[in-house]
Amino acid sequence: MRCVEVAVAAPVGQTYSYLLPDTLAGVQEPDQALVGRRVFVPFGTGRASGYILAVGQQQDSPFELKKVFDLIDAVPLFPAALVELFRWLAAYYHYPLGQVIKTALPGGLKVSVEPIICLTDNNSGKEAGDRSVGAPANEWLARLLAAGSLSPRESKRVLADRNDRATVNRLIEDGVVRVVKRCSRDSVGKKLERCYRLDRELCRDIDGVTEEAAALALIGRYVREKIGREPGRAEAKTLLVAASISAGSGAEDVPRRELAAEYPYGAKIVETLAADGLITALDRRVYRSPLGDLLPFYPRIEQHSDEQLVAIGAIVESLERRVYRTFLLHGITGSGKTEVYLAAAERTLANGRGVLVLVPEIALATQLEAHFVSRFGPLVALLHSGLSPGERFDEWSRILSGAAQIVVGARSAVFAPLPDLGLVVVDEEHDGGFKQQDGLRYHARDVAIVRASMNDAVVILGSATPSVTSYQHGRSGKYELLQLSRRVGGRSLPEVAIVDLKKQQHGTGLFHTALKTALQETFDRGKQSILLINRRGFSSSVVCLDCGTMVECRHCKVTMNLHKRPQALLCHYCGYRLPSSTRCATCGSTRMHPVGFGTERVGEEVAALLPQARIARLDSDIAADRRAFLGLLKAAGNRELDVLVGTQILAKGLHFPDVTLVGIVLADSGLSFPDYRAAEKTYQLIAQVTGRAGRGDTPGRVIIQTLQPDHYAIGLAAEHRYADLAEQEVKIRASAGFPPFTRLVFFLVEDRLESLARARAEEIGRGARDWIKTTASSSQVAVLGPAPAAIERLRDRYRWQILLKATDTAALHRLTDYLAASFQRSGGQRVLIDVDPENML
Ligand code: ADP
Ligand code: ZN
Ligand code: ZN
Repeated sequence: MRCVEVAVAAPVGQTYSYLLPDTLAGVQEPDQALVGRRVFVPFGTGRASGYILAVGQQQDSPFELKKVFDLIDAVPLFPAALVELFRWLAAYYHYPLGQVIKTALPGGLKVSVEPIICLTDNNSGKEAGDRSVGAPANEWLARLLAAGSLSPRESKRVLADRNDRATVNRLIEDGVVRVVKRCSRDSVGKKLERCYRLDRELCRDIDGVTEEAAALALIGRYVREKIGREPGRAEAKTLLVAASISAGSGAEDVPRRELAAEYPYGAKIVETLAADGLITALDRRVYRSPLGDLLPFYPRIEQHSDEQLVAIGAIVESLERRVYRTFLLHGITGSGKTEVYLAAAERTLANGRGVLVLVPEIALATQLEAHFVSRFGPLVALLHSGLSPGERFDEWSRILSGAAQIVVGARSAVFAPLPDLGLVVVDEEHDGGFKQQDGLRYHARDVAIVRASMNDAVVILGSATPSVTSYQHGRSGKYELLQLSRRVGGRSLPEVAIVDLKKQQHGTGLFHTALKTALQETFDRGKQSILLINRRGFSSSVVCLDCGTMVECRHCKVTMNLHKRPQALLCHYCGYRLPSSTRCATCGSTRMHPVGFGTERVGEEVAALLPQARIARLDSDIAADRRAFLGLLKAAGNRELDVLVGTQILAKGLHFPDVTLVGIVLADSGLSFPDYRAAEKTYQLIAQVTGRAGRGDTPGRVIIQTLQPDHYAIGLAAEHRYADLAEQEVKIRASAGFPPFTRLVFFLVEDRLESLARARAEEIGRGARDWIKTTASSSQVAVLGPAPAAIERLRDRYRWQILLKATDTAALHRLTDYLAASFQRSGGQRVLIDVDPENML
């Protein structure tokens, strides 16, 4: 009997060994075909599911091993290459291994209760089957041998019959047959679309022939040569229409739907053309944008720029040597980073290895997706939250089987089961969206780098505004820095003006005269504007005019925001609502006054300024309704909107060529955040939203309103001086001891009773300090806190924090392990561990 190492899907730190009865997996099944499959195992007093991580021979063990109850999957859910990565994740993020794997796998992997009888994979199965069955074979056996498996219904019947069951058991022992339980899944059928493809030769012949009669004559000649007869009028016309659709889109394949739209009769007769071999019919997988449209097709570019060639050359060199290397591709917005990704992907595929492309927010990343689909067609699999669980599982299977070799997806796609990963692209690598904020708090960019290093793969981190940490690694040689410093096509970056709000007279509203004038001019010229403001709602708080008390959430220690539609006071952290006509909690006064402003108020002011303009608000209130959100993006793209007012959602990757004005209503709102990266984030936000202006042929302009016009982050962003910003930040962090010069682990203790939260935090703090004293690494790990968290109370829980800061990563993780073990033992308060925290509120 073999012995398997199982990670149980439960909050336990270790893995367990079980015996695997040969009746569950015949001896013919190779060990590596078992890794990545799920099992049911006895666990505690009950049973649990788990994942097989390793297989060995039964050894003399001082303990008696328990037996696996059942093997759940017929095939592995992940390749063995990922096991090492899962182990690393569990250790680095201090999270139970079984739950790491559960997080990594796509949702919707339900265990079907239906067992299926099928032949084992080894080729001798059939012969052995014939041998062991003998002459008077049962009908079901004949069917099994012919089809390879029985239907769930028939399997059930066979297994219920005593004699048949005995036969099955004998066949299992012979290694001929196995019983598996299939994962339930949705059908894939509707993703295929009928398409037609013309001979390249014919396309080339009629390319550029503008006169219909001339083109038809060429088609006539082609048909005569090909099948020795004259084409009918409709036949020739059909071929002509197909050719012109193909030439128009730049894509080889012409979907039947498009042919029918253009020439309905042609769609009726095209199948007979296919039967004659005049056109090739094929069922192609169709990719749609989240809006439901077909993705646009992007033809190959003619020639890479010199800068692109240098970048591609360096990357290809590492790809060819099959060594791990991380490149930081720092390219300004519109500099052509995508073409570098595509060239690297092409080379990786040519080497027979897989490609992973990660984007921070899939709804807005369709452009990148479309580029990859245009270039690589059905080799591309998509993994993101827009898919149903069944669709996601299908994509997962296509990747695992090798049918799809390029994966484009959001954060969790970093776990895509590519058997041999050769290249990872992380686009917009600086984006906070790569960090998971609950459960397994992993950072997809960092995991991607670790995964690549385990697999001798190449990483490209792309950004116009890299994280300061990545940039520093680029300068120090840990990564290799590649630069694209010019926009493609000689387009210029927009001109940026800073407006000092302190100089503005009172009572003139939110917009400085310069911004008002610019909004008016842009509207008059029929162009679009974007207004960025970092807060949703109408006001950021409501204050009592009699005693100065702010309206606070009764569940959280934060002020409540006033919203006009629907009219209410809202807590942005827990969703608690109060009527907007609330009284002061301290003095009972009804004289309550809104202060600060959000997207709704900005929207109102634009409407007052430009009564004719079509204005839309884009913030997380709207984005919560995915359809409404995508609908607005579509309307903006179709020029049905004049002004977009929104939060940072607007800064991410949108490409609206008619946006020529970007206004930042208050650029310094993020600078007061209790975050060592406040300046970096402010720079990135300004630079990213600035990059939305002037993407078309009309140059763009940007107006930044601020109360701190002299702040370096704002000044440097206005001048597009990223390198100087990074330089400045690196200096500050080196002297203050922040990443990348140290590593952080954040502990958060929560409890309904403040005294308990505090006591526990103090206990952890003491434990940490004692540990440091006794293990002689005091210079390498520092303990900050305990202290109340930035949000002291959230959803009725009091929150205390401790921050560990270390120059010695190994010591930091040993200490974290030690602390985690101590508070797991004593139970009680919730303690959350966040390694490399992005958000310490
Ligand atoms: P980035 O991602 O760096 O902001 P993109 O990759 O979106 O920029 O490129 C901007 C535009 O330039 C795209 O429309 C792209 O097709 C085009 N482009 C990129 N490289 C070239 C090139 N070498 N020649 C012509 N057009 C190019
Ligand atoms: Zn009051
Ligand atoms: Zn609240």
